[in-house]
Amino acid sequence: MIKQQFDVIVIGGGLAGLTSAIHLSKAKFKVLLIEKNDYPKHKVCGEYVSNEVLPYLESLGFNPFEFGAKKIANFELTTHNNKSIKANLPLGGFGMSRYEMDFQLYQLAVKNNVKVLQETVIDIVFEADMFQVETKLNEKFQSKIVIGAFGKRSNLDIKFQRKFITKKSPYLGVKIHVSGDFPEDKVALHNFKGGYCGVSKVENNHINLCYITDFEAFKSYKDIDAFQEEVLFKNSALKAIFKNSEAQFKQPLTISQISFETKNPIENHVIMCGDTAGMIHPLCGNGMGMAIRSAQLASHLIIDYLQGKIETREALENQYAKRWKKTFNLRLKAGHTIAYLFRQDWLAPKLLRLLSWFPFLIPQIIKMTHGKPMIVK
Ligand SMILES: Cc1cc2nc3c(=O)[nH]c(=O)nc-3n(C[C@H](O)[C@H](O)[C@H](O)COP(=O)(O)OP(=O)(O)OC[C@H]3O[C@@H](n4cnc5c(N)ncnc54)[C@H](O)[C@@H]3O)c2cc1C
Repeated sequence: MIKQQFDVIVIGGGLAGLTSAIHLSKAKFKVLLIEKNDYPKHKVCGEYVSNEVLPYLESLGFNPFEFGAKKIANFELTTHNNKSIKANLPLGGFGMSRYEMDFQLYQLAVKNNVKVLQETVIDIVFEADMFQVETKLNEKFQSKIVIGAFGKRSNLDIKFQRKFITKKSPYLGVKIHVSGDFPEDKVALHNFKGGYCGVSKVENNHINLCYITDFEAFKSYKDIDAFQEEVLFKNSALKAIFKNSEAQFKQPLTISQISFETKNPIENHVIMCGDTAGMIHPLCGNGMGMAIRSAQLASHLIIDYLQGKIETREALENQYAKRWKKTFNLRLKAGHTIAYLFRQDWLAPKLLRLLSWFPFLIPQIIKMTHGKPMIVK
């Protein structure tokens, strides 16, 4: 039996889902957000957010600095052979844990009348110009619009038979929070053979250590500790941080099968946002920015559609797909190319040496994978 009808159902309550739900609810639409996990919860993420999205977050009523986010303006890159390259970040950003950021946005969503349900969506059916969304506990909801914001990999990708889900991906992500010394205003990328580790502080003064590596390289070691000792710690900056800090998690969090394959921004009439529409390599430090920006893009067009300014669903879908590609295609391509080049073991040290000779190239590369500060309408 159908329980309730909504204007919009958002599936997935990460950054893309939460920001679009708040935006649409502020515009007086009836919004249901369904998230499978409880808040707050840690996620594998570098937790460096580009300032590109700050004006938009503030317009939604969210100021990360109220919750202790750290302002970050400096960047350091260290190479496999322990050379350090420093640069200013063209736009800068802030450090905030996903544990805190998602939780605060969730609270803001509830305050803005978004109905939030903790459940797993198992099916979305589009029929007679309406969606029917079904959860694991057999609850059914109806809406005019569905936003798919269910992240990089979900049971719904299998349901929709999305191409990327059948392909194996070589990437593994590991994250841990530690306490120790590290400058508040810096994000560092420390390279090691087969990967890199991002380091920056978050709101509670913990240091986030998050690395991504090739699963093939990883699996020949006994466990995470052995891998870190033998591979990460060849980078002396990383060794110093790991050895001189105290772990704040019992175990590091890990995720595998991180895919950067091309995805469609519309699938079965569902409007995809954030990683569900496409994921940039974390090396570029801007996946969260893209998630939030795509949420704004989708929300503006959905409002126009629900208010009759965009006349047909087809026009809504075409406009979203076109604008999504225009906004993100170039930076995705730049991100994929940079990540590909840095994955080549023979090439990565040479590229890093080149950057150490010409450090002014770093802000240019960062600009290619980031947008300008968001305009708030
Ligand atoms: C190792 C690593 C490091 C990174 N570092 C950075 C960084 O420093 N800076 C940066 O900007 N980006 C970084 N990123 C990228 C960033 O984490 C993502 O781009 C961002 O989280 C995308 O947000 P999202 O809302 O699209 O997805 P998510 O935050 O993943 O949210 C999706 C939500 O959907 C829920 N969900 C899934 N399926 C269902 C279902 N069936 N029913 C209900 N709920 C469901 C999930 O529980 C989840 O909460 C990193 C990524 C990785 C892997």
